[in-house]
Amino acid sequence: MAHQIETPQMNMELVDIPGTSLKASPIALGTWAIGGWMWGGTDEAEAIRTIHEAVDRGITLIDTAPVYGFGRSEQIVGKALAEGARRKRVLIATKVGLDWKDGQPFRNAGSARIHKEIEDSLRRLRTDVIDLYQVHWPDPKVPIEETAAAIAGLQRVGKIRAIGVSNFSPAQIEAFRKVAPVHAVQSPYNLFERAIEDDVLPYCRDRNIAALAYGALCRGLLSGRMTEQTRFAGDDLRKRDPKFQAPRFAQYLRAIERLDRFAQANYGRRVIHLALRWFIDRQDSMIALWGARRPDQLAPIAGLSGWHIDSSAMVEIDRILSESIVDAVGPEFMAPPDQLAA
Ligand code: NAP
Repeated sequence: MAHQIETPQMNMELVDIPGTSLKASPIALGTWAIGGWMWGGTDEAEAIRTIHEAVDRGITLIDTAPVYGFGRSEQIVGKALAEGARRKRVLIATKVGLDWKDGQPFRNAGSARIHKEIEDSLRRLRTDVIDLYQVHWPDPKVPIEETAAAIAGLQRVGKIRAIGVSNFSPAQIEAFRKVAPVHAVQSPYNLFERAIEDDVLPYCRDRNIAALAYGALCRGLLSGRMTEQTRFAGDDLRKRDPKFQAPRFAQYLRAIERLDRFAQANYGRRVIHLALRWFIDRQDSMIALWGARRPDQLAPIAGLSGWHIDSSAMVEIDRILSESIVDAVGPEFMAPPDQLAA
């Protein structure tokens, strides 16, 4: 089945995924929260409405993974895209290489696991081909060459279109590329989490590889809706995210307040527009993954076109960040264990 991408209504140029015929909207939908696990649960009907809203608003790439809700996110994405023939309007990006037992994830990027996971993902997603198949985390127990060879085999037989890796360092990407092509690299990246600017981003830029940025709103922080009184329910990962704990939370909130004033004064927009537009003006072949989980959360799409952040504004934004956040911390707390705890 061929999947033609129709013209989006987002009013933004599509981004090429170099080395492939694929193009995607620069803002894409991430569906980890839609899977519920580590985000305090999910409401399937609302999740489906969110995916429909995203496609209707011109988003043409949806990112998911088997581990998100232990199959739930992929199932919801598959169900949502089966309705109204939406599948042919979007690229599906999913992942491979995280296993789980009794609700505990662990890395498993061996060949046997990959051959099982691809079939499970195709079934849950109700499709015959995955557009972008990404190794979720490097697995130190398995040679990268074994993982890469298994993924290359899936591409050869037409089960996947393009290949990605996620949470890989340049050295790990380099080892992978000796065996299989890498068309996209997915890493944590947003206004507050900038570590890849020192290594992965220049690596991708120099080799013409697409960069997918995850956590575009830094787990909702950059939406502008949080206050010091904001609390999270159930298994929500933000209960243990160090950015959401004192004393750092106040620093990040101070940065958001200043960025919001900057966005209003210079563009007549809010901090959420600034945080998302920032990706589009940052680097070519960049796709930002936005984890909206309610249809209304996607309304800011309407305010992303018709203006841009120039280089002097980029400098001013960085000045606000360095003045407000004196004790920055990264997303390292999210890394899954190499193996199950005994
Ligand atoms: P995010 O967009 O930074 O945060 C998601 C949260 O932001 C939502 O759960 C929602 O939370 C809040 N939010 C979104 N839009 C909002 C709005 N308009 N107003 C207020 N709050 C809003 O993204 P993320 O889910 O952490 O990351 C995005 C995607 O990247 C994931 O879904 C996944 O596809 C991918 N990802 C990949 C990896 C990896 O290892 N490769 C890791 C993390 C993420 P509330 O409504 O609950 O506040």
